[in-house]
Amino acid sequence: MASEISTAPAASDDAIVSDTVSVLIPLALPKPYDYKVPAGMAVRAGDYVVVPLGSQELIGVVWGAGSGEVGHNRLKAIIEVIDVPPMPEVLRRLVDWVAGYTVSPAGSVLRLAIRAPGALEPPRLRTAYRLGDVRPSRMTPARTRAIEAAGDGFARTVRELAEEAGVSDSVVRGLVDAGTFLPVDIPTEAPFPNPNPDAQGVILSAEQAEAAARLRAHVDAAHFAVVLLDGVTGSGKTEVYFEAVAAALTQGKQVLVLLPEIALTSQFLERFEKRFGCRPAEWHSDLATRERRRVWRGVAEGRVPVVVGARSALFLPFPDLGLIVVDEEHDAAFKQEDGVAYHARDMAVVRASLGKFPIVLSSATPSLETVVNAEQGRYEAVRLHARHGVAVLPEVTAIDMRSNPPERGRWLSPVLVTEIARALEAGEQSMLFLNRRGYAPLTLCRTCGHRIECPQCSAWLVEHRFRRELACHHCGYSAPVPRACPSCGAEDALVACGPGVERIAEEVAELFPEARVAVVSSDNLRGPSAHEAVFAAIEGREVDIVIGTQIVAKGHHFPWLTLVGVVDADLGLENGDLRAGERTFQLLQQVAGRAGRAERPGRVFLQSWMPEHGVMRALVSGKRDEFLAREAAARERVALPPYGRLVGVVVSAPDAGLAQRVAREMARLVPRAEDVSVLGPAPAPLALLRGRTRLRFLVKAGRSVNVQAFIHAWLDGMKIPNAVRVSVDIDPYSFM
Ligand code: ADP
Ligand code: ZN
Repeated sequence: MASEISTAPAASDDAIVSDTVSVLIPLALPKPYDYKVPAGMAVRAGDYVVVPLGSQELIGVVWGAGSGEVGHNRLKAIIEVIDVPPMPEVLRRLVDWVAGYTVSPAGSVLRLAIRAPGALEPPRLRTAYRLGDVRPSRMTPARTRAIEAAGDGFARTVRELAEEAGVSDSVVRGLVDAGTFLPVDIPTEAPFPNPNPDAQGVILSAEQAEAAARLRAHVDAAHFAVVLLDGVTGSGKTEVYFEAVAAALTQGKQVLVLLPEIALTSQFLERFEKRFGCRPAEWHSDLATRERRRVWRGVAEGRVPVVVGARSALFLPFPDLGLIVVDEEHDAAFKQEDGVAYHARDMAVVRASLGKFPIVLSSATPSLETVVNAEQGRYEAVRLHARHGVAVLPEVTAIDMRSNPPERGRWLSPVLVTEIARALEAGEQSMLFLNRRGYAPLTLCRTCGHRIECPQCSAWLVEHRFRRELACHHCGYSAPVPRACPSCGAEDALVACGPGVERIAEEVAELFPEARVAVVSSDNLRGPSAHEAVFAAIEGREVDIVIGTQIVAKGHHFPWLTLVGVVDADLGLENGDLRAGERTFQLLQQVAGRAGRAERPGRVFLQSWMPEHGVMRALVSGKRDEFLAREAAARERVALPPYGRLVGVVVSAPDAGLAQRVAREMARLVPRAEDVSVLGPAPAPLALLRGRTRLRFLVKAGRSVNVQAFIHAWLDGMKIPNAVRVSVDIDPYSFM
């Protein structure tokens, strides 16, 4: 699948002798273009270069020797080679591989790898001064003090010298003029600390130690291997994979840890610091531009030993990566839906295989894909069966909402309310989980039945009562809550239907006015420091009841949390897509795993209107493997992933008629191929998104079918009008 380019001999980092090279430009271009190398310029594969394209000057990456398609005398010349280490060969091959797999232009994938603003500009320097051999002809006590302050030979800025010596800046400047202090350029950026692999670790249990030894062995062997670290919540998976990180650091290799959510970073950073004595570098979208630049460059220059990051960190230019850990590997947040639709976990496996090093996939609820890969021997499974120490897995109970319904207009069953009261009394923490932001998912007119929808999307507007507005969770549209119904004009007739976390918070405040409550959802947490603050407050027992969305479900370790109440356990099953059962199970199992992680045992209550559903039964019985086996068998019967392959194709246009015309034309051109069927076009569940009408095709194919070749055969020759967008999603996770 990887295109021919990736196997071209010029992909090595040696200088290219040829006078023509191909340069990949980070735009939606299918392949690199040839450029002339001016006489006297040395160019290596992977070098970042400035090249002309049309009337613009752009930064691209030297991809290999020229293709020779265009005569040398008609080529434009490279303008400049940027002074930064070349993009490593493994990363260039990964870019090609991802492009081939996702059916995206290679240039669009390259963009993911150089999207660090300013990273390619020369590092900013500042001038500092160190002591030279010349002494001024006239000495003063101030000058003596300044010279003494610089006596250790280190370079300092004027300000630093003046401060340390207790003299004015002008005294220091005078010594600069006299040639006593000599200028040196030093980088403005802080250096990266080195984690110490031998710093204090925990004492591993026998089971943990054995697991750690198996991971270490792969790191020491420095070969490609995929290891599934499969352990119940609280079993110490993090402590175990830290040992693999330590092994890689001992070898002087770089390490990448991928987390699905920024919200998980702060606790991770602290734990890492405890184990290794300093924090790793971070990489995610909330990072300030300067910091992104510093990390990108530090990674490229091999100065950053460990990066913890979100999925985009996969495309950082590590020259010497020796280990990737994908934590919470089952998490759908690893799937990028927009632009280049790639799954960071799967592409991390590709990077490991190209770079010939091991990768650890860690989870308490591994994805069916990964479980099947382990069963079939492609991945190695390492299991942790017990929670660490005295902690035991929580007891899970389903509350049948048909026989224990909440009071009218309320959402918490009396059974759950009693449990919360009990936890409060015992001084323990409770968590109420509802994966719905805002106050109410739907606003309805009591008079005419009108539902308030987004003007640009086929979706209801969600009421956010704290902000006093209605918001679309798909496009970001928002408007104040109207007084009158926009349809019939009736005053004060709008009613909020259904609960979001804000509404649960209101109910809890009425039930337990004395309790300290924290609502944790992406709406009231902006940026990592806000996360850090609220999670610290929970850990520090400044909160009695946590009400949260999936942000609180994952990874966190709150020792005093003993009760978890799932407000609507059926919620994830509603959308009925292929992974609805699997994902609901994973999410609720993760949430349940927050309870009773220390000495005090935990209890979990699932509010459900269908407690007989297989997902609820599996959660209550704790029989995960049986559940997975049933899911696997069901998918195998109908040849759905991982037993078959899917490709989502969405056609969208601002004009509904145009979108339909193009989709019909596409349907007519579907090529015949064995073991492939194409369903659609059908209006997408989100039939209108950001003002564009959307139609979906679903390609269903056997496991051995080259779906990329099929997509090319289908779409490559088609003339698509400019206003129409056709997006291809290999292995889709969203069917909206
Ligand atoms: P998981 O990642 O599997 O959910 P963690 O690694 O977060 O589990 O471990 C749960 C808690 O138990 C953490 O606070 C961790 O530091 C602690 N822990 C795990 N193993 C040990 C150990 N061998 N010694 C001391 N503490 C441990
Ligand atoms: Zn919208």
